[in-house]
Amino acid sequence: LVDIRNLHKSFGDNHVLRGIDFSVAPGEVVCVIGPSGSGKSTLLRCINMLEEPQEGDVVVRGEDLTDPDCDIDAARRHIGMVFQQFNLFPHQSALSNCTLAQRTVLGRPAAEATRVARMNLERVGLADKEDALPAQLSGGQQQRVAIARALSMAPLLMLFDEPTSALDPELVGEVLTVMRGLADEGMTMIVVTHEMAFAREVADRVVFMDGGVIVEEGTPAEVIGDPQEERTQEFLRRVL
Ligand code: ATP
Ligand code: MG
Repeated sequence: LVDIRNLHKSFGDNHVLRGIDFSVAPGEVVCVIGPSGSGKSTLLRCINMLEEPQEGDVVVRGEDLTDPDCDIDAARRHIGMVFQQFNLFPHQSALSNCTLAQRTVLGRPAAEATRVARMNLERVGLADKEDALPAQLSGGQQQRVAIARALSMAPLLMLFDEPTSALDPELVGEVLTVMRGLADEGMTMIVVTHEMAFAREVADRVVFMDGGVIVEEGTPAEVIGDPQEERTQEFLRRVL
């Protein structure tokens, strides 16, 4: 579903991604771990062209998003993204947050958008909160609305960038439970996370990044349980 080859991204003379090769198969859950500044968010943002790489290919569903002729807006419709900060529209209800892009981007009629939004709010356990404004919801609930909003666009791929890092510890579990449910349903997911227990249990594959390269990748048992590279071992000693 995703095929990234020789990806390079610099900000000025800061060479952040230094030749990333990375593929994700349909239905696969890949967790990306690594120290702060290693380029995890930048990699995720290159997958939907929120950042434009200087070199390399980003192929999603067989379409090269770095091709100047590619319709990026159309390609992005298949990619859901959930950020650390939930980025909900503050003056819109949970339901409106989930219908807006369906209507403006996909052109779905109001009744259909509402039906899909309600289904997805129910999926994240918030059927009873559709009228609430973001400020009336806990952080965990807001993040679940953000997930429902992304799901309402019927994405083929979901990108999560530290979705639980801004949450109080007692609210992390409810968001991870929703994500685990998505993984069980077969959603293709790339998850940047510091939640090693989640990575261990849910990921099909764990990718360890450091210094803008993929240092090591494999099953959770391989990368987290029995890391081969010194840099992976050192990182895990600090976070586990
Ligand atoms: P963290 O775990 O702290 O989120 P990360 O692995 O996600 O870190 P990135 O956010 O990808 O790291 O950042 C990698 C490097 O790229 C950092 O040196 C950062 O300062 C730089 N960087 C990221 N985004 C930009 C930007 N828009 N403009 C300039 N520099 C940037
Ligand atoms: Mg980041």
